[in-house]
Amino acid sequence: MPLELLGSSAQADDLVASTGGPHPPHASHQAHHTPPGTGGRRDVECFDCHAISRASLHATSTACSNCGTYIDLRHFDIRERTTQKIRTRGDVTVHKKGALLGTSVYCGNLIMEGMVGGSIHAQDTVSFRVSTKVLGELRCGRLIVERKCAVQCLQPVHVREVEIEGTFTGRIFASGAVRLHRHARLEGSVNAPVFSMPAGAELMAGMHIFGRASGDIPEE
Ligand SMILES: [Zn+2]
Repeated sequence: MPLELLGSSAQADDLVASTGGPHPPHASHQAHHTPPGTGGRRDVECFDCHAISRASLHATSTACSNCGTYIDLRHFDIRERTTQKIRTRGDVTVHKKGALLGTSVYCGNLIMEGMVGGSIHAQDTVSFRVSTKVLGELRCGRLIVERKCAVQCLQPVHVREVEIEGTFTGRIFASGAVRLHRHARLEGSVNAPVFSMPAGAELMAGMHIFGRASGDIPEE
């Protein structure tokens, strides 16, 4: 099994420096799915000031409690090619044969069975169920690459946590755990506090793990 750890200190420092930008994604708050028993309300992140407001699960819009920005909460199903600009904290599903060709999509959760041309800004989870290439920036709470999917991100990926069951190529900057599943394959680089991979996963990536790594990884 090819397993490379490219952990020179110079490279690690570079990676650390590059995570120190003004907008560490989702680091200043914990916007998770609403757990049960929270009275049917959910956390909603403002597009502009990134403050968290509470909104009813059934609301179709709200206003940021900090800056007053209008926040759409509708869900969108994309079933054809469109340049529609989507800026919601509802969920967006890009179905098979669907394509979002605008410059960016803002959403709560994003399910990808089709194609997105621009950058992705998801408050919660982005699930890739199809092989695709992401040309723009990808920022989200949780990134999931499902089995048999090969996803390539050309821009750095800023994320809270990552689960890879298929193949992922790109540069990951995670504030939480990066987990590979059995038969997963990761190429590129990882900067994360926690990393784990089981036997059977493949890693061809420059690694900077500033917390703990577990699994089939040689100690430095
Ligand atoms: Zn705001």
